[in-house]
Amino acid sequence: MRIMCCLKPVPKPGSVKIDPETHTLKREESELVLNPYDRYALEAAVDLAEKTGGRVVAVSMAPPNAKNILLEAFAFGADELVLVSDRAFAGADTLATSYTLACAAKKLGPFDLIICGKVSVDGETAQVGPELAAWLNLPSVTWVKEITPHEGYLDLVRTREFGEERLKARLPLVITIENEANIPRPPSIKRLLKQDEVEVKVLSAKDIEAQEDYLGLKGSPTQVVDTFAPEYQGKRELISGSAEEVSERLLSILKERGLI
Ligand SMILES: Cc1cc2nc3c(=O)[nH]c(=O)nc-3n(C[C@H](O)[C@H](O)[C@H](O)COP(=O)(O)OP(=O)(O)OC[C@H]3O[C@@H](n4cnc5c(N)ncnc54)[C@H](O)[C@@H]3O)c2cc1C
Repeated sequence: MRIMCCLKPVPKPGSVKIDPETHTLKREESELVLNPYDRYALEAAVDLAEKTGGRVVAVSMAPPNAKNILLEAFAFGADELVLVSDRAFAGADTLATSYTLACAAKKLGPFDLIICGKVSVDGETAQVGPELAAWLNLPSVTWVKEITPHEGYLDLVRTREFGEERLKARLPLVITIENEANIPRPPSIKRLLKQDEVEVKVLSAKDIEAQEDYLGLKGSPTQVVDTFAPEYQGKRELISGSAEEVSERLLSILKERGLI
């Protein structure tokens, strides 16, 4: 089974910088770490590849400083590492991101399976997996927590708000992985020692034959108009008096604020 695993490099908490003009993240100036949820996606991909005699192609759309994240993925079991990187991708919303990943999938494919994490810890939309499936005209199954491979299809268990769902899904397919799906393995010492010899293939917008109008800020129907840290206004009122006076004041505050 040939598997593409989408890994999102996210800014390390505390290292995030915002461009004051475009209101976008300055990803190239932030220290990047692997989106924690993508560790489960990678483990699911490597486990499936081992069970089916397949290969895992780890793909990130990110600035050049994300190469280390892909080398980390190699230590965790990925076979091929691809960084899709170009100035033209800057400012991409989920639609432009998923389009770019879809172009990369077409270029690097065909794949039997594309695996994403369930959500990123920075954008947090959980849209990229299903959108990627839509661009590729493939079915998608989200929140997968169990996978059993068969010839041409997978038996899947996915979590729901109130229980779980079991289904059979024909390949090729896009899935997003729950964090309860597995316990990610530690990095392999053998692979860590080989990291210097491993190639991270870098693909530009031209390499993946992407249409310029669908990329980055230009290809993003949603754009950030402002970003700001919420101001905390600590206000308190000490209510004193008899039990009757306190409850009357409390009642009037609740009414004033429309809470009752
Ligand atoms: C309205 C809006 C406007 C935005 N505008 C900007 C902007 O101007 N500039 C900016 O920098 N960001 C912007 N973002 C954030 C940007 O959209 C996200 O970084 C990106 O589209 C991925 O979305 P997400 O983080 O919600 O991923 P999710 O959909 O939560 O991610 C799910 C999974 O998809 C995969 N995935 C997601 N992104 C990647 C990736 N890049 N490479 C590989 N795999 C990936 C991973 O497996 C991940 O676990 C914006 C987001 C929104 C909602």
